[in-house]
Amino acid sequence: MPEGPQMYYLKEQLDMLVGQTLKSAGGDAPDIPFDKLSGAMLTEIRTFGKELLFCFESFTLRVHLMLFGKYAVNDTLPRKLRLGLEFEEDDVNFYASSCKYIGGRPDNHYHWPSDLMNPAFDAAEAVNRLVKKPGALICDALLNQDILAGAGNKIKNEILHIRRVHPRSRVGEIPPSRLRELVDEAVRLSFRYLEWQRAGEENDWKIYKRKECSRDGTTVTKEEIGGRSCYFCERCQELFGEG
Ligand SMILES: [Zn+2]
Repeated sequence: MPEGPQMYYLKEQLDMLVGQTLKSAGGDAPDIPFDKLSGAMLTEIRTFGKELLFCFESFTLRVHLMLFGKYAVNDTLPRKLRLGLEFEEDDVNFYASSCKYIGGRPDNHYHWPSDLMNPAFDAAEAVNRLVKKPGALICDALLNQDILAGAGNKIKNEILHIRRVHPRSRVGEIPPSRLRELVDEAVRLSFRYLEWQRAGEENDWKIYKRKECSRDGTTVTKEEIGGRSCYFCERCQELFGEG
């Protein structure tokens, strides 16, 4: 599943659509009034976590690629079209995605301080929200999109390793200063991830899908925790609480 930085990068690839008028829209996404959309001008593209937001003057179209979403720019794929947007000069088509119509501007629907890549991101608020879930495992809490919108499984595994916290640690047992380190690292890594994409470089993961810990060479442990894969090092990641 794409994480926040991948969606931000996609937004950058689509920014040429801003200022263009929608000629037609179609697809099988439910509850989108396709016949009422043409003639609207795209004023902005934004992201909120893993969501891509096409902002028009009086409505917003939200796209989430989910697990298997695909898209094509000025091209089509041999799949069932979920949402296709044909502008004056360019078009974009989404498949196997979750697409929604939102009346009005996105400011009424999104809490920007939760979005890791937004200038309004509030690290102190994120720590406060984590602290309110003392019984949660940190590996689950970091994926909570109400707390860290945009964080996905790769970012989660990497920041726990970089900041030496075991994924089975209970949030309430981790000192708030260490939670703050994790939150700050999530922001830093998100922008690094974006830079890798802009440069067309391979992601330089230190623990995710690796066989050995990049720090000490210990064999990486892979475990399903909370339904998601955790990659971690038993030697250099500290377990807070009983786990
Ligand atoms: Zn290690």
